[in-house]
Amino acid sequence: MISMEDALEIVLKQVSVLSSERVKLLSSLGRVLSENIYSDFDIPGFNRAAMDGYAVVAKDTVHACSDRPVTLKVIDEVPAGFKVKSAISSGKAIRIMTGAVLPEGADAVVMVEYTEARGDKVMVFRSVKRGENVSFSGEDVKKGELVLPRGTLIRPQEVGMLAALGKTEVYVTRKPKVAIISTGDELIEPGKTLEKGKIYDSNSFSLFSQVLKCGADPERIGIVPDDKDELLHKVKMGLSSNILLLSGGVSEGKYDLVKEVLMEAGVKPLFWKVAVKPGKPTFFGIKERTLVFGLPGYPVSSMMNFENLVKPAIFKMLGREGYKRIKIRAVLKGEIKNSSGRKNFIRVRLIEENGRCLAIPAPSQKSGVLKSMVWANAVVVLSTDVRKVKNGEEVLVEILD
Ligand code: AMP
Ligand code: MG
Repeated sequence: MISMEDALEIVLKQVSVLSSERVKLLSSLGRVLSENIYSDFDIPGFNRAAMDGYAVVAKDTVHACSDRPVTLKVIDEVPAGFKVKSAISSGKAIRIMTGAVLPEGADAVVMVEYTEARGDKVMVFRSVKRGENVSFSGEDVKKGELVLPRGTLIRPQEVGMLAALGKTEVYVTRKPKVAIISTGDELIEPGKTLEKGKIYDSNSFSLFSQVLKCGADPERIGIVPDDKDELLHKVKMGLSSNILLLSGGVSEGKYDLVKEVLMEAGVKPLFWKVAVKPGKPTFFGIKERTLVFGLPGYPVSSMMNFENLVKPAIFKMLGREGYKRIKIRAVLKGEIKNSSGRKNFIRVRLIEENGRCLAIPAPSQKSGVLKSMVWANAVVVLSTDVRKVKNGEEVLVEILD
């Protein structure tokens, strides 16, 4: 049995980044940039007013206060989006709107709230410093700057930034294709009538959704009974994908055929069984460039091993290197135990209460209890040597969402 760290290293060693494709900006959300994005210009490209008010020479306002306003002559007006023709000098002001080009000669903007218009003059009731209420050229982005490096996940803010840079299309990594097979004679497709001894297939639905959430392209090949020929046929279909995920049938039961069938299909085994709980019976192998994971049948085990092994592989294929779950400290509310002698992933719900983070373990930690995953938004990872953590103790929590 190998450790999760070693297992992950073996998996990642087999992964290379996929090729690129060009997509329209509005289709880029959730994709990963495969090019470095530099800026061809400053943003903003000119000094501009950050507030509505009057563009002034700051020095003119030094003595302005509410009892003794300074009076300036208003010589022009400039709305956002237009070029200003006039320049100002001492004693003069230009009415200016947020986003408008700062007129030549001006070095500050007095907010309209601190002024009072009087015909062609304005009274200023407050002093401003040089640069006050002005946003300077290049304040957001500098010309030539590397704004978004290759490997960046495109979130709404990146879509906005790409638009601000004038891009209409970008190069992103192609989505890995992930085929999903559920194995087991007891499995029924949701929607069909449930008979005694049967259960609905949930794993391929959780896995499909996990794949989607990672930004990859899932395909449900479906349910396969514990039958060698049928399994071999479906495995061969799945091997044309970048990743093939199977769940169930990978332990040592009489009908656990996955490992044997995969090897018959030409999959080279790289490990089987990882020292974790849940999720010990996990197979990993490769056939040419396809990664093949035989995940355990228990719904929690299959989901957790996806998180621990498959997700980092997908991220690496997408060019997102070095993925790690975010860890924060929390106070344990409840008690957790680890007698497995393996690394234990305790499902917890992280909540905030009176400024403290609390981790509340799911009431059942059994790997067949899918409700523990529904409960959880995080895990506490107990190493092999930690047998027990008591109520009120501090724990390191790894966020799943
Ligand atoms: P196995 O790994 O095939 O021995 O299955 C372990 C447990 O997980 C058994 O109780 C199975 O019925 C259950 N199981 C296997 N596959 C699925 C699935 N796709 N959806 C829900 N439960 C499953
Ligand atoms: Mg089975």
